[in-house]
Amino acid sequence: MNELTEIKGIGPSTASKLAVLGIRTACDLIRTFPVRYERHVLTPAKAAPIGTAVAIQGVVVQSASVAYIRKRLTKLTLDVLSDGIVFRITAFNREFLRPALAKGAELVATGRFETGRKQFLANDIVLSKNYREGIVPVYGLEGLSDRLFAKFVAAAIPLSPEAAKETLPARILQSRRLAPMQEVLAYVHQPRDEAEISAASRRVKYEELLRFGLAVKTQKRKNDAVVTIPKKYDIERVRAFITALPFELTDDQKQATNEIFLDLKKPRRMLRMLQGDVGSGKTVVAAIAVYAVHTVGEQTAFMAPTEILARQHAQNLTRLFAPFGVTVAYLSGAVKGAERKRVIDGLASGTLHVVCGTHALIQEPVVFKRLGFAVIDEQHRFGVAQRKILREKGYDPDVLVMSATPIPRTLAIALFGDMDVSTIRALPSGRKPIKTDVTDFTDFQRLADAIAHEIAAGRQAYVIAPLVGSDAESDAYSVPEAVELLRGHMPSGINIASLHGQMKSADKDAIIDAFRTGETDILVATTVVEVGVDVPNATVMIILNADRFGLSQLHQLRGRVGRGGLQSFCHLVTDVARLEEGRLAILAETNDGFLISEEDLRRRGPGDVFGEAQTGMPAFKAANVIDDRDLLEAAFTDASTLFDDPDHLARILVGEAASAIDAYHLD
Ligand code: ADP
Ligand code: MG
Repeated sequence: MNELTEIKGIGPSTASKLAVLGIRTACDLIRTFPVRYERHVLTPAKAAPIGTAVAIQGVVVQSASVAYIRKRLTKLTLDVLSDGIVFRITAFNREFLRPALAKGAELVATGRFETGRKQFLANDIVLSKNYREGIVPVYGLEGLSDRLFAKFVAAAIPLSPEAAKETLPARILQSRRLAPMQEVLAYVHQPRDEAEISAASRRVKYEELLRFGLAVKTQKRKNDAVVTIPKKYDIERVRAFITALPFELTDDQKQATNEIFLDLKKPRRMLRMLQGDVGSGKTVVAAIAVYAVHTVGEQTAFMAPTEILARQHAQNLTRLFAPFGVTVAYLSGAVKGAERKRVIDGLASGTLHVVCGTHALIQEPVVFKRLGFAVIDEQHRFGVAQRKILREKGYDPDVLVMSATPIPRTLAIALFGDMDVSTIRALPSGRKPIKTDVTDFTDFQRLADAIAHEIAAGRQAYVIAPLVGSDAESDAYSVPEAVELLRGHMPSGINIASLHGQMKSADKDAIIDAFRTGETDILVATTVVEVGVDVPNATVMIILNADRFGLSQLHQLRGRVGRGGLQSFCHLVTDVARLEEGRLAILAETNDGFLISEEDLRRRGPGDVFGEAQTGMPAFKAANVIDDRDLLEAAFTDASTLFDDPDHLARILVGEAASAIDAYHLD
């Protein structure tokens, strides 16, 4: 029993049904919003288009009867006169309507005429007196009809004044022209026109974004309050290091480097995101900062999402740092024995300056002499969890997170508001854009020929498959099936190797080394190669079942080719039906990672693009961060003004934001 049973029509069984849906109070009921709206207009039977959903009013001329077709399937039929014609209405699993649909009853049926105007397949039948013309909310709740639910809501509204209590300060409602809560509830559940729906939706989205903005900014204020010892790096040595690089930094790289250096000098902890497309030169910027930190005698932990990438960072940094006396090591669970001891001892005594590893690195039983800096190469994820673990271990280093899913600056500031953001927009000059096309499997021979052509010219290829092993349930390619497919279409004598994340580290390393040295022509792999494998001689990539991947992920994947000065190609293969969706077309049109991630965000939302648990970004219920970007910016601007606002609703919002930090995983 609960207060819901006080509502007319709700008995114990309906109440327990509602409880399963998380609806336990009148307030919960009222705050359950429709997922969409249907527009109901009556259509005269003779004018109803065949095969299109319409609502038709009529009189029963032959009472309804029910046939039991099989378990859980009944068929209700009746004849109806409408607009001067008589036709048969069929509805499945509506046997409970039979008593009401006796001869002479007036009804409205929603559904469609099948072939001619003799048979009408209904998905809903109501008596005319219960029919509501106009906009009808659809709640989509399991086991509860929309009509019934709307009735409960209408009955609940007077019982629960707290649901209609305003949550936003009057100042904000006014300046943003937002509908007050009282009106919103009526608009949401009983909209009279489209304007009411959009007013309600705008208010609901705004509030959702405002609450998120407040949580993000609360976290930011906490971060900024941490006082640290400024790092007085040796600028002369840093300059010498930059001069020794084999290239000139791009303007964007210089700017990002400056922003990082300002952070290092400040008496507060750095928490900065460095974002830029694959190959835009983020790692080199991070390396300069690592070197600066080294000049003050502090160590760096450099973390990457995969072992392959971590090992590669270790190799690159070793090469870069060797002439400058900076020592670098690689550590993972797979590093054992004497080497493990050497690394652990070196970090504890301070003879090792930089350690690279996966994100598990900080969970290793390592002790640093003076950990001053953490670089987290996250690609899609952000360093929230890592930061927390480091803090729990007693370290509070400056943190630089690198993201290869770059987003427009205004959006980044809103979405990653607890971090400062540096952006590398332009790629180093001389990069040739990867030529990309989207095609279907019937065209596979052409692709195989294209690979063979590149291999004959001394180049190498990647083929990406979505699955590790075959799965009878799935129509997607696995790595072994992809190998099979290739063998069927390629000349013999071509060396094919396969790679996936479930292999042993040593095996993975051996396979990548063989590809790097050119011994292997084609590497068939899962998305393990998404980041890190750097083989400039590879010029072609085929991605099988490309529709299985997010746009940003596909862009990351193809970033494995086009790394040398050679023209490179990417072929996205999918089946015809999915090709028609056109989602993948943007990859063929542009190589700009900013545009691609924006499109990805529009389609999937930040929770899916970046990984909800990792970023603190919720899967917004109402708002879309791209389509509602103006609202997002407004909400984030307003959020900043609430911290010092004495208004009691502002105080409540700020308080709730502080407790929401956990829910958003921001801490
Ligand atoms: P990211 O980490 O952003 O993917 P990297 O730092 O790995 O990019 O750089 C990709 C490649 O470009 C590397 O081989 C790097 O040495 C090179 N590179 C970086 N900056 C420049 C530059 N300013 N000019 C030319 N090449 C550069
Ligand atoms: Mg990189």
